Amino acid sequence: MSTQYDVIVIGGGHNGLVNAAYLARAGKKVVVLERRHVLGGAAVTEEIFPGFKFSVCSYVVSLLRPEIIRELDLPRHGLEILPLDGTFTPMPDGNHLWRVNDHAKTRRELLRHSALDAEAYEEFGKTMVEMCRWVKPLLSLVPPDPTSLHPRDLKKLLFLGRHFRALSSEEKYTLIQIMTMGAAEFLDQWFETDVLKATMSASGIIGTFLGVRSPGTAYVLLHHYMGEIDGAFRAWGFSRGGTGGVSLAIAAAAREAGAEIRTEAPIAKILLKNGRAAGVALANGDEIFGKVISSSVDPRQTFLKMMAPGQLPGEFVEEVERYKFRGSSGKVNLALDALPEFTCLPGAGTHLRGAVSISPSVEYMERAYDDAKYGDFSRQPYIDIVIPSLTDPSVAPPGKHVMSCFVQYAPYKLREGTWDEKREAFGDTVIETISKYAPNLKKIIVGRQVLTPLDLEREWGLSEGNIFQGELSLEQLFFLRPVPGWAQYRTPVRGLYMCGSATHPGGGIMGAPGRLAAMEILKDWQRGKV
Ligand SMILES: Cc1cc2nc3c(=O)[nH]c(=O)nc-3n(C[C@H](O)[C@H](O)[C@H](O)COP(=O)(O)OP(=O)(O)OC[C@H]3O[C@@H](n4cnc5c(N)ncnc54)[C@H](O)[C@@H]3O)c2cc1C
Repeated sequence: MSTQYDVIVIGGGHNGLVNAAYLARAGKKVVVLERRHVLGGAAVTEEIFPGFKFSVCSYVVSLLRPEIIRELDLPRHGLEILPLDGTFTPMPDGNHLWRVNDHAKTRRELLRHSALDAEAYEEFGKTMVEMCRWVKPLLSLVPPDPTSLHPRDLKKLLFLGRHFRALSSEEKYTLIQIMTMGAAEFLDQWFETDVLKATMSASGIIGTFLGVRSPGTAYVLLHHYMGEIDGAFRAWGFSRGGTGGVSLAIAAAAREAGAEIRTEAPIAKILLKNGRAAGVALANGDEIFGKVISSSVDPRQTFLKMMAPGQLPGEFVEEVERYKFRGSSGKVNLALDALPEFTCLPGAGTHLRGAVSISPSVEYMERAYDDAKYGDFSRQPYIDIVIPSLTDPSVAPPGKHVMSCFVQYAPYKLREGTWDEKREAFGDTVIETISKYAPNLKKIIVGRQVLTPLDLEREWGLSEGNIFQGELSLEQLFFLRPVPGWAQYRTPVRGLYMCGSATHPGGGIMGAPGRLAAMEILKDWQRGKV
């Protein structure tokens, strides 16, 4: 094995792999070093119980950039996305709300709740698509620095100005509202049905330590609207074989282009020579050298754990220290020997093939946040459930199922006790909460895995368990991500770059940070700066 490379990529999550694939395709000698035994980071499939394969962390795919799918030819490398249709919200009074991608069906369903909302829903959808169309080009744009007079930045700022001017007056107002409002308040302007607003606003709090009424969450809602499968906005799907399938397809593309990928290779230190990045030291003391180090792990890991404070400007270190993680989510993965029966809609209908959302009212959602604000996990949490084995039987033994429960809120910092003490109580709360709607659940569980924010930090290196490597709050987006002045994938250390979710455009199985960082590295190479 070589110890000298052009590029060393820290971390084999999907962004690190995308970064490696693009750099290898450009002819660079690349190695990816992943700490775990398996590739994928938070986009991973693991067989937790014999025969049951879980998308252990992230569970649905839609944000993956179409240009990456195309350029890396991912379908040829095994990527297959199976559509996930609809969101089913059971209600405590025995009613339910079930929205699907079929407009006519959803309209009929909404009419049961409110004629006004049935009308507004279509209009809302159109408006969100327009907003997505506006934001979408920004996902593929290296953020300009608004304080710079460099022609490159000025050109992009001009583009942004023109891009904004192209919106109609109404769209401009809506965009500003989205950037500043809480998700629930934003939806209040459109709808009257509480359960509809609650379920829709849930997308606004994912991965953030904010409530559905907190300003800024309307943007997170839009971020989750942005996904597209085959060009359709707001379409989510399962990767066949679990979300690890996405990472493995990218890894195959990277290997084909010549990249070397090593697992069980934890990096302890970034090595500098004459103030420039020169290599890395593994936890076992081995040293590997490269002209460029591209880190897909978060800024706390990269700058505060793998480097010494004196190696970086003090002001930059302070900014990194201020970067907010505040993990707020957990995950409960269940192996089942039958399907859950929801009292409000019994049977194994197609409502179980989409997402099942435990979000019965806006007050319920806000109270779930109240617990977290004061350092407890939610006694009645918001839960987003999927049962991928119904769509992709390869992930469970015949007749059995895997059920993934994404849970909020689970604050990293607890008021009392530790997550090691509270892990099982948290798991019990999740199961109790779902059992109120599906009473057979406890009887059909044959295995359970409970992941707290502490587990996400320990096992995946996600600081404070933040699922997006840092909150997607407005002050940490675009030219402010991860820190002001350093949003263009470069760092104060020459030869050291960032390429993970902590950079623009942020978290989710998107691949955009890895791709954009690769482009910037290659530009610096051409300019002779490497
Ligand atoms: C519970 C959960 C649910 C989620 N649900 C969804 C979802 O449904 N849909 C969606 O789009 N997104 C979801 N996300 C977010 C999404 O999965 C992440 O934003 C994305 O996978 C991050 O990719 P990344 O490559 O930037 O970073 P990561 O996946 O964090 O990859 C970083 C890699 O670096 C490795 N590493 C860490 N330290 C070291 C070290 N010292 N040396 C070497 N390697 C190291 C890690 O092991 C990891 O493999 C979820 C995330 C979580 C945690």
